[in-house]
Amino acid sequence: MTVQLQWPILGVIIPCIIIATLAYGSHYFILRHHLSYREQIIYEFYATMIWISYAFAIFTNPGTPPKNYKPTPHEWTRFCKKCNNYKPPRTHHCKTCNQCVLGMDHHCPWTLNCVGHGNLPHFMRFLAWVIWGTGYLFVQLCKRIMQYYEESNLPGYLFDKWELTAVIALTPLDFFVFASISVLFIRCLINICKGMTQIEIWEWERLETQWYSERLWTMIRNNYEKLHNKKFPKLTTWTRSYHSEEEQQEEEGEEMIHLTTNEESVIPKNFTMDDLIFPYDLGFWKNLTNALGYPYVWLIPFAGPGTNGYSPEISKEYQEDDQLNLPWPPDGVRQQEITVTRDNDEELRNIKNYRELRKRLDPRINDKRENFVNDMGERLVDFGVDESD
Ligand SMILES: [Zn+2]
Ligand SMILES: [Zn+2]
Repeated sequence: MTVQLQWPILGVIIPCIIIATLAYGSHYFILRHHLSYREQIIYEFYATMIWISYAFAIFTNPGTPPKNYKPTPHEWTRFCKKCNNYKPPRTHHCKTCNQCVLGMDHHCPWTLNCVGHGNLPHFMRFLAWVIWGTGYLFVQLCKRIMQYYEESNLPGYLFDKWELTAVIALTPLDFFVFASISVLFIRCLINICKGMTQIEIWEWERLETQWYSERLWTMIRNNYEKLHNKKFPKLTTWTRSYHSEEEQQEEEGEEMIHLTTNEESVIPKNFTMDDLIFPYDLGFWKNLTNALGYPYVWLIPFAGPGTNGYSPEISKEYQEDDQLNLPWPPDGVRQQEITVTRDNDEELRNIKNYRELRKRLDPRINDKRENFVNDMGERLVDFGVDESD
């Protein structure tokens, strides 16, 4: 979910207050009475690593395209007027950082910086240290609570009131930070393993929603004919095909995936979203090491990504099997006005699959890229992207 703050500086002040309260409040009021000297030093080491990685995430430039970058023939030619430079693939102009950001993921209000190719490892390290630190603290707090429970029959004056208050106040705060950062970390890690940024996942959702729209396929066809100067090919799919409708319904029931589009339609009949290949997905291990470097550098505070960020490697699968043979996204970044005819009732009645029917009736089906809102309510601009992109 995207967050926008009225006073951006709060984005850094709030996390600083939370980190300081948890790290030093818990140490002063609780941990120093129970941990050994050595354990206390280790605990402060965790806190220091949180501060260091946070500072790196805030102050490291997310990465800008090299000066005089020239797009290759298999890229959309995208020129940024503000930076006066061409944009490499996966790059977007951030309206807050006011620069083009390589591999832009999103503009993060909690670091006042973009999360992009150059500082993604720092961002992930920050999240990991927060999870480790708050997780360790949570275990210590639980031990205290267990002890209070066991000693609950002792007279009240034996308890340190300050410590008891700190345990009651810090346990929910610590758990909240631990849980929310863990969710964010897992979400980011899944994206990294898929080889996609949040913006690209948003783009994928847009294509999925608009997959059976005439508008999308008109643009894909136009792009193809313009780029390759030849007629759009007949696309194929790997999904099972059936001889008769009865056979189809028997085997698949609810799950039938073929649409009853007529042959002249611009929407290809036998090409599903599963046949679309994302060009930069190189497989889980390569995606991970390209984004974060090799595992032996993961804990080094200043270690950067494993690639340069402006010439992303194209997957073999894409080179061999991509039927559309178009740069990403296949419908292009600058989208012209296209008028589409609404599906007539007869056609809609012929769609027997409820999910497909719902897709056809989705009001977002013909939205232009800059207006599209995903299921989480996010538009391209919510990631910090300049809309004139
Ligand atoms: Zn720019
Ligand atoms: Zn930014």
